[in-house]
Amino acid sequence: MDRAWRDGFLEGLRPEQPLTVSQWADLHRKLSSKASAEPGPWRTSRTPYLQEPMDCLSTSSLVQRVVLQFAAQTGKTEAGSNWLGYVIDHAPGPMLCVQPTVEMAKRLSKQRLESMIAETPVLAEKIAPARSRDSGNTMFSKEFPGGIMLLTGANSATGLRSAPCRYLFMDEIDAFPSDVDGEGDPVALAERRTTTFARRKILLTSTPTVKDFSRIEAEYQRSDQRRYYVPCPDCGEMQWLQWSRLKWDNLKPETARYECEKCGSKIEERHKPQMLLAGEWRATAPSNGKTAGFHLSGLYSPLGWLSWEQLVDDFLRAKSDAPMLKSFVNTRLAETWEEDYASKVSADGLFAKREDYEPGVCPDGVLLLTSGVDVQDNRLAVSVWGWGREEEGWLIWHQELFGDPTQPEVWGQLDHVLDTGWAKASGSELKISQMAIDSGGHCTHESYNYARERARQGAVVIKGSSKRNGPAVGKGSKVDVNWKGRIIKRGVALFIVGSDTIKTTLFGRLKHEESKLHFGLAADEEYYRQLTAEKQSLRYVKGFPVREWVKKASERNEALDCAVYAYAALQLCYRRYNRATMWDQLSKQGRPAPLRSKKEAPASAFTNNW
Ligand SMILES: [Zn+2]
Repeated sequence: MDRAWRDGFLEGLRPEQPLTVSQWADLHRKLSSKASAEPGPWRTSRTPYLQEPMDCLSTSSLVQRVVLQFAAQTGKTEAGSNWLGYVIDHAPGPMLCVQPTVEMAKRLSKQRLESMIAETPVLAEKIAPARSRDSGNTMFSKEFPGGIMLLTGANSATGLRSAPCRYLFMDEIDAFPSDVDGEGDPVALAERRTTTFARRKILLTSTPTVKDFSRIEAEYQRSDQRRYYVPCPDCGEMQWLQWSRLKWDNLKPETARYECEKCGSKIEERHKPQMLLAGEWRATAPSNGKTAGFHLSGLYSPLGWLSWEQLVDDFLRAKSDAPMLKSFVNTRLAETWEEDYASKVSADGLFAKREDYEPGVCPDGVLLLTSGVDVQDNRLAVSVWGWGREEEGWLIWHQELFGDPTQPEVWGQLDHVLDTGWAKASGSELKISQMAIDSGGHCTHESYNYARERARQGAVVIKGSSKRNGPAVGKGSKVDVNWKGRIIKRGVALFIVGSDTIKTTLFGRLKHEESKLHFGLAADEEYYRQLTAEKQSLRYVKGFPVREWVKKASERNEALDCAVYAYAALQLCYRRYNRATMWDQLSKQGRPAPLRSKKEAPASAFTNNW
């Protein structure tokens, strides 16, 4: 029995000719004028690097799992489409196509699939038009002789739990949610559909995202890690193209040339078509015979799609802006983005960068003050932060107020902080607009009572939440207060603070050379140790990596908590102003609104000096 016969027999299907996906595409595929910039017959020679990945999806290949970590504009979507056409026309069987969302699956069906079917005669013959009744052709389901193609989104557990499938296509997997409807990883959920098929095929594609989070990178690293080697036109040395070898004259993208790693000659882009045609995929890691992984950057994009000049131009625009640079690295270079800011911010570095302004004095630019209070068993740690336009921040003051928080004395010291008029360089004074007090420790009732009594002066209670990606400050709820044995119903407003979210924001700013966060002479070295006492670390939830903030063993982190709470307090201030005009208002009036009634300072001793 020949192999084509045997395959067909085993899968219970009619015999398949040993035609490959690339051969099928060259024979039958037409690119529509609607969906393609280059309409007309498909030519694999235009993107020679797509041939091997496509042919691994052919029924004659033993590979079961094909991983494409590709840059945008390299044709990976068309490679997927060719496979769909090949399955419908040549190797029918049940197939599931998963997009990141159901909405995107709808778009794929309407914009790409329908036009591919309409403009490719061999496909139009096999799939009835969607508008005829009982055609077996709907938005999310296409029937054809010997098979069916289902489309769904990775955000739908129901869709992923559909019937068994021999072919599974998961597109843009880095955009898949980590968990779908509480049922776990959508990739694993979908893959379970294929387990009954001995000759299954799975295609996973994506541009990558953040290092250690990227699904496609993890898949690629588990594969044989193929790179596309192309010859140098001058010396013939086979090499894979790397961004670091693209050279250009200062600020002149049009001078972009590729420097050969062997002979050093500067290769002009016009050689690219020949180089691509003479190229070959080479594995750079051991193979298990079943998984083929392919990595391709935008440097390989065919002439007329994305030039080296355009790449350099994109890079020059993006290089000083982190989100733009991330996008460049992900979509142009097809590499993951390393968010390493936490490791770059050190206590010594921050201490060395202190600026020359006195504790308790507000530098120019400060328009609003907030305070964060961390409640410990024998003290309150208190920071006062000044804020200006675009959330530029200044540490104004930081102290520990010693005393037992279950007793009134230490809270009396805190009154002084609230009552103080903090001097501006202009001679005027600022008072604290909002003070956020932690209620998560052992002294919840004392925190509640203090915030209730000082609510008019801007005191609120907050509770940290470590929920990932939570809002900086939640909606707030009224909670009961136990005041001298009497329960006051809904006596105080409690706000949930997204500590992880705020830490990520603050450290994102701290790492920059021209940081928007300033430190004067208000704090000693211990303060900076506490501020940097936490690092982001990687933890696995249901097999999927998540980053979370973790305190180093045996270190105190109150300074960081105080900064987080003071930032949360700033977010609460926004609720009292028109966000668009808030800083203008504040800079005109010179002191924050609304004005509060004066309160007499309590008699308790206030021992801190500044
Ligand atoms: Zn060379």
